[in-house]
Amino acid sequence: MKSLSDIGVIKEILYRHGFSLTKSLGQNFLIDPDICPEMARASGAQKGVGVLEIGPGIGVLTAELAKLAEKVVTVELDARLLPILGETLADFDNVEVVQGDILKLDLPRLIEEKFAGLRVVVCANLPYYITSPVIMLLLESRLPLEMITVMVQKEAGERLCATVGSRKAGAVTVAVDYFAQAEILFEVSRTSFVPAPKVDSFVIQLDVRSEPPITVQNEAGFFRMVKAAFGQRRKTAANAISAGMVMDKATIAAAIERAGFDPNVRAESLSMEELARLSCEIERG
Ligand code: SAM
Repeated sequence: MKSLSDIGVIKEILYRHGFSLTKSLGQNFLIDPDICPEMARASGAQKGVGVLEIGPGIGVLTAELAKLAEKVVTVELDARLLPILGETLADFDNVEVVQGDILKLDLPRLIEEKFAGLRVVVCANLPYYITSPVIMLLLESRLPLEMITVMVQKEAGERLCATVGSRKAGAVTVAVDYFAQAEILFEVSRTSFVPAPKVDSFVIQLDVRSEPPITVQNEAGFFRMVKAAFGQRRKTAANAISAGMVMDKATIAAAIERAGFDPNVRAESLSMEELARLSCEIERG
């Protein structure tokens, strides 16, 4: 079987199918032969496990996942890649390609239909223009996923895996930490892709929690507050929250005082528990 990370093989396949890369779809294909086997091993793919992949490209990671997993379902938006995948994945009878936009598919139904009786993980080299929306969709939909192993741009990876309460944390860090334990697995150089993107990448892993690490009375209200608090990073939490939630500054200032924080506290210095406490105080009004 030809190596799908070999640049000569990639060029030959793309040329033969008259395929030209679409930059706006994040089409950077891996050409480092070590990355996909390592990602597949780390993903938890094995017998009894179904893997949902997003954006197979020409199938370089898909093939490695298929060698280990019971079944792989891979979702590709670009219909022009389907005949290519039909050719490159012809040796595997445990792979199904679904053409569609990962952000628009009915994922609970897809998982129920395709992975009945299997444990399910996600593994993907994500199209970078939709990194956060995809990760948040996978987590917020409370899909029955055990683990999410994805390649993302380095800066996004740092943000997603940051410690809540540190300077690198943002609203997305809090959201990820609420649903999963996140860690950076390894770095991937920009030279591992064709065409080479402008930045390096990280492979990160989200170990989905069975229970959130904090208890909040109103989950939607908590996330609204978090989004507002981190929305304007230069402002104090009081100013950012009152502006973002369109609430009276004095009400927020009083909630911050009742929660026991400095009036000038910034969102980035608050831990998960402290953010939950503040949200409860704001709910109390
Ligand atoms: N897995 C391949 C690799 O590692 O070489 C390709 C990864 S490439 C970074 C991202 C892939 O996601 C492309 O094949 C692109 O067409 C596909 N894609 C882009 N937007 C998508 C979407 N909304 N839903 C599903 N696939 C998408």
